[in-house]
Amino acid sequence: MKDKYERNIDYMRISVTDRCNLRCRYCMPDEQVPVLPDGELLSFEEIERVCRILPKVGIRRIKLTGGEPLVRKGIAELITRLKKVEGIEQVTLTTNGTLLAERIKELEAAGIDGINVSLDTLDPERFGHLTQRRRLEDVLRGIEALQTSDIPRIKLNCVPMEEINGDELARLAALAKDSRLAVRFIEMMPVGNGQQWTMIPEQTVKDRLTAAFGPMTPAKGSFGSGPAAYYMLPGFRSPVGFISAMSHMFCSSCNRIRLTPDGFLKSCLFFGGGTDLKHLLRSGADEELLDAAVRETIWEKPRQHPDGQAEENRKMYQIGG
Ligand code: SAM
Ligand code: SF4
Repeated sequence: MKDKYERNIDYMRISVTDRCNLRCRYCMPDEQVPVLPDGELLSFEEIERVCRILPKVGIRRIKLTGGEPLVRKGIAELITRLKKVEGIEQVTLTTNGTLLAERIKELEAAGIDGINVSLDTLDPERFGHLTQRRRLEDVLRGIEALQTSDIPRIKLNCVPMEEINGDELARLAALAKDSRLAVRFIEMMPVGNGQQWTMIPEQTVKDRLTAAFGPMTPAKGSFGSGPAAYYMLPGFRSPVGFISAMSHMFCSSCNRIRLTPDGFLKSCLFFGGGTDLKHLLRSGADEELLDAAVRETIWEKPRQHPDGQAEENRKMYQIGG
């Protein structure tokens, strides 16, 4: 359906947990972060109930995220269930990749349509510093398993930060050169601890990649359902993409809403507003009431996000990036 600003909302990001086995400093910096008790997380039945409403309002594509979605027990079972929901056409997942090699077969069997792996550095020391865990080898095994899998859409997401990977962007982009992995650069957003890092804007990343590989040209074809713009570098098999919420405010074409792990339906990443679906689900709301709540949240989606710090106190791992 369309919101009040005529944007077509057809995509939902569902966070299945706020727990994670990494501690990326810009997302979940503290060792002792408070996490939700199990009973506060939406159950698979509750997530499925919400998803049954979605096609009725025109949402047919779902991304599972977190926290780290692969630490939620039974995630493959949830994928199998969501794939069976009438009208849902695509279920994809975004992961830090640490558990991917061991889980990829069950994710494939569940029918996952695409997987994004997040990786900001290929240097073991930097990875250890940024994520506060020494798990780079596991992530690289996960990426290898992904490249040799039959999963259709596979992508690598990287957040450029001068302090961590400013001199490594070409090396990261090169992962797209001879493989079917698209590599995307996502501008750091001022959500949670994001504002504490030196964000590298899209144009600077492009300049560094052009200096390393030669001029890039807009890529032909469709590579995803979001705001990324894709380009081909000379001699590359797969494209590089840019998601630049700060350089190019893409609010006028935003197509998504988000469900937090504790069942709060958010219409914009940068604002705290939305609807407590968990309360509705647990107080006996029927389909009609849930449907109306989802429609109301979509309708009230803000026109655009603020320029500076987000008006949202939740951190990224509590929302689902
Ligand atoms: N744990 C999974 C992962 O790392 O892919 C899924 C959740 S994580 C919050 C999703 C994505 O959000 C990651 O690619 C991460 O780099 C990104 N992210 C977290 N905080 C961010 C911020 N402030 N700005 C931009 N991207 C951010
Ligand atoms: Fe965990 Fe992903 Fe946040 Fe890193 S970005 S701490 S992997 S949820």
